[in-house]
Amino acid sequence: MSNWRSFKKVELHRHLEGAIRVQTILDVAGEAGVDLSCESLEELREKALILKPMQNLKEVLDKFWLFQSVLANPSIISRVAYENCIDAYHDGIRVLELRYSPSFINHNHPELNYDVIHEAIVGGVKKATHELGGKIAVGLICIITRDQPLAEADRTADFAINHRKSFVGFDLAGEEVGFKSSQFVNYFERVKKAGLRITVHSGEEAVAEAPQFVKESIELLGAERIGHGLQIIHDKKVIDFVKSRNVVLELCPSSNVITNAVKDLKSHPIKRLMDLGVRVTLNSDDPHIFGIDLTNEYEVLEQELGFTERDFETLTKEALEATFVNSNVVQSAWEK
Ligand SMILES: [Zn+2]
Repeated sequence: MSNWRSFKKVELHRHLEGAIRVQTILDVAGEAGVDLSCESLEELREKALILKPMQNLKEVLDKFWLFQSVLANPSIISRVAYENCIDAYHDGIRVLELRYSPSFINHNHPELNYDVIHEAIVGGVKKATHELGGKIAVGLICIITRDQPLAEADRTADFAINHRKSFVGFDLAGEEVGFKSSQFVNYFERVKKAGLRITVHSGEEAVAEAPQFVKESIELLGAERIGHGLQIIHDKKVIDFVKSRNVVLELCPSSNVITNAVKDLKSHPIKRLMDLGVRVTLNSDDPHIFGIDLTNEYEVLEQELGFTERDFETLTKEALEATFVNSNVVQSAWEK
């Protein structure tokens, strides 16, 4: 099959803040009070996007600030949420889980607060799903980051619980080294009790402790899904543990190359993990900032790792089973 764009897809791992059209950044920079110091789309693409591997995750995360800076008012945030859904739909995505970190968006934007940010995102998503006639099911995930003050994480947990009707899940993101899962247990217990589902960014960076981090994310934080988790390939015991807990990995191959979590796509463990019986899904992570979309991930896995239509069907089936979005909404969007 050559046209993967029209293949019906599920995206479980996509950051709103990493998925802003470059044209939109150019359009709204003035309104957001951001001096881009460049005139043309080409110049901005050069400056904003990460198209080749960086040193590590931190270097990649630092690049997010330009994208973050334009998220300065509710109308821009709403537009970005809307465009995320429209872009996903044209990428063949029929079930989309979109995640964002309220504290990250709020940073240096004093006129915003978490409720205003959330209302803007929900509004943008509603507008898109209405326009698309319900042909896409969208769920929102709230993120806390490891490096934020714990009081802020605590506040974010309360915020997620207050909005539990419009969030489907809760996530922990950022660098893992130096941040113990044990300090976040309380927040995850609370949000889980309120009915939110749990996914945790873990086992992404190529460090010796990575498989153990994944084990702790499952044991201590109750993760049902792991964002990335690819480094478990180096630890047979953790692979068995992940399987025994029926945990699903949200793999993002191009992202892993860009953050230097793997050397290249050919050495990505996605196929090996599938063959070992680990439940995995395929995702784009930050489609615009990385200059990719989910269709691109299909194409590169076909080219570099020989993935077949059957492999993609397996990945899609796992994602449909693992999504946190209400099954009736999913079914309705999938069958339209
Ligand atoms: Zn991510």
